[in-house]
Amino acid sequence: MGGAMSFSKWVFVVFVLHLLNPCPVRFSYGSSSSNGLSDIPKKLLNFAKRQELVGWMIGIRRKIHQNPELGYQEFETSQLIRSELDKMGIKYKHPVAVTGVVGFIGTGEPPFVALRADMDSLPLQEMVEWEYKSKIPGKMHACGHDGHVTMLLGAAKILQEHREELKGTVVLVFQPAEEGGGGAHKVLEAGVLEKVNAIFGLHVDPNLPIGEVASRPGPLLAGSGFFEAVIGGKGGHAAIPQHSIDPILAASNVIVSLQHLVSREADPLDSQVVTVAKFQGGGAFNVIPDSVLIGGTFRAFSKESFTQLKQRIEEVIIGQAAVQRCSATVDFLSKEKPFFPPTINNNDLHKYFQTVAGDMLDTQKVKVMAPVMGSEDFSFYQEVMPGYFFFLGMKNETLGKVESTHSPYFTLNEDALPYGAALHASLALRYLLEFGPEISLPEGNYRDEL
Ligand SMILES: [Zn+2]
Ligand SMILES: [Zn+2]
Repeated sequence: MGGAMSFSKWVFVVFVLHLLNPCPVRFSYGSSSSNGLSDIPKKLLNFAKRQELVGWMIGIRRKIHQNPELGYQEFETSQLIRSELDKMGIKYKHPVAVTGVVGFIGTGEPPFVALRADMDSLPLQEMVEWEYKSKIPGKMHACGHDGHVTMLLGAAKILQEHREELKGTVVLVFQPAEEGGGGAHKVLEAGVLEKVNAIFGLHVDPNLPIGEVASRPGPLLAGSGFFEAVIGGKGGHAAIPQHSIDPILAASNVIVSLQHLVSREADPLDSQVVTVAKFQGGGAFNVIPDSVLIGGTFRAFSKESFTQLKQRIEEVIIGQAAVQRCSATVDFLSKEKPFFPPTINNNDLHKYFQTVAGDMLDTQKVKVMAPVMGSEDFSFYQEVMPGYFFFLGMKNETLGKVESTHSPYFTLNEDALPYGAALHASLALRYLLEFGPEISLPEGNYRDEL
């Protein structure tokens, strides 16, 4: 609603702000907003876009990009994070979950709001030729986690500069091993996040325009699991098949049968995926091998569907292999690659995110997206505390086509760094101002979805 605020109202606002903020304010909260909170996101974005901050972030991002490290081996990345936190005078805990670092900014008192960045790279040879190409053969930051770490360090810098305005504590979670290692689960096991009231996480999105964000309330990403099976037959001469038991044919039928789980057994309105992505067997044109190894992933949004898929994958592999006289063993690799729960966004935090991101980027740049079958180990946090995960746009057509994440040609648009840093910082700072110290922890356990 337009119109000038009456003088008495204005005096009241100033009075309330004074109560809220006994320390000297660095923000000049605008009198156009009812409480000044809505000015914070834009101001922090302007702060993040300052030349020196952007240059510093780009330098950090390139350093991490050149030295990618796989899950639980992020020693140098962890070292770099700690030395930057030291320079900023931010206290932290280390090691958390092997290489993880958990920093603290603010009063040290409740409420606690957490921001999370993942640190690991992928076992992939970078194919992009540029000055800051990965120096480690066979390893690459092809999922943008180098950018995520940088954005959280950027947020740390912004928040530390505004620490007098923090009405509680921001917890910075630099987490190892997102790519299948379940680093989030290990961080939770370490017990450093027990007092946290809410957690936010983001992922860069090459298909979303720069300056936009996208997410949704409720289920956003699927729960995921992996499987591997060895189908055993009897090797022999390829020209005398009657003396062999052919595991290649058996494995082929197993794969076809697995495709019937989603098409024939699942509710068409309940999204699920079974993909066999690995098929290894045989090494010669004229030899039937002894065994074949297949492997893949399965995805679902509910615990029931996930459990059903898991059970049926095992039954179908063993049963279908037996049709062709083969044996089969199935391994769900749950130790090395723990099942990820679905990523389910808290409804209240969705509303809060829309307000904060809308104030920063304008509401039409804050998109509500459809769920996707990808998965994120951020979901482990959401099982035990209210959490919110969103995608950060970085597409800029004028810079050329951006390859998808996990591609050896993936590139990160560094122009997205200030957006990520400012969103992180705004979500945390405003959360503490808006929700105050009277927040109580969610009752009981959130664990009902996997
Ligand atoms: Zn990834
Ligand atoms: Zn990722």
